[in-house]
Amino acid sequence: MPEFEQGDGHLVAVVEDNERNARLVHDVLVAHGYRVTVYPTGRDALSGIPGERPDVVLLDVQLPDIDGIEVLEALRRTGVDVPAVAVTALAMAGDRESLLASGFDDYLAKPIEVGSLAARVASAIENGRH
Ligand code: MN
Repeated sequence: MPEFEQGDGHLVAVVEDNERNARLVHDVLVAHGYRVTVYPTGRDALSGIPGERPDVVLLDVQLPDIDGIEVLEALRRTGVDVPAVAVTALAMAGDRESLLASGFDDYLAKPIEVGSLAARVASAIENGRH
């Protein structure tokens, strides 16, 4: 396995309200050597992530309480400066660009492509903030 696909114990914060998606992402990343914390709501993410200092945040855009774009803005305001990857089922043209304009460093479409997830997370960590 190429070195860039190995998690190497990096910590991934997964903000996802859909339990099945959260478990899938968790299991795939753990199998690739990542440590993973799952936050089911925006509020959970805002209370946990600043102290946890993950290496990357995967942020579902559609959350039940605070949407992912606002969660990211709030995280940035509290000094969380890690790469952030938007995860969304939105499929309209231009979404990727508008998410990147909102401060996300990358974008993953749902349904998640399990085969490339770990590599995408590895590049997000490697490339850092844009
Ligand atoms: Mn959701």
